[in-house]
Amino acid sequence: MDNKECKECGSSIRGRIDKKYCSDACRSNFHNKMNISSLKSIRYIDTQLKKNRKILMDCFAEQDSVQSQIELRKILKKGFVFDFHTHIEKMPNGSEYQFCYEFGYAQLNEHQIHLIKQHPY
Ligand SMILES: [Zn+2]
Repeated sequence: MDNKECKECGSSIRGRIDKKYCSDACRSNFHNKMNISSLKSIRYIDTQLKKNRKILMDCFAEQDSVQSQIELRKILKKGFVFDFHTHIEKMPNGSEYQFCYEFGYAQLNEHQIHLIKQHPY
């Protein structure tokens, strides 16, 4: 193959057929960028998870009982994102709770979730 292009700068590469970059500088630039973008995704997910946790924590704190029923629209209004949770736990009664750290929830019906706090570790 004669005209392979550098993955970083796009200039044509000469030499070994398995070369992906025209220079060491381009190789390290490319990898640095990859690292930064994966760090960004980690940070984004961390932020969402902590935001979710904070919302559940606030809702939990507003209740008196150890187990609470929360209006779905209340946490959505606060910016809760259901896509992000840390783990899922199945309770002895068979219902599954999605956790954001120590706060777990299960959907009760269309409008409500059941909120619990648990320290598994
Ligand atoms: Zn290059």
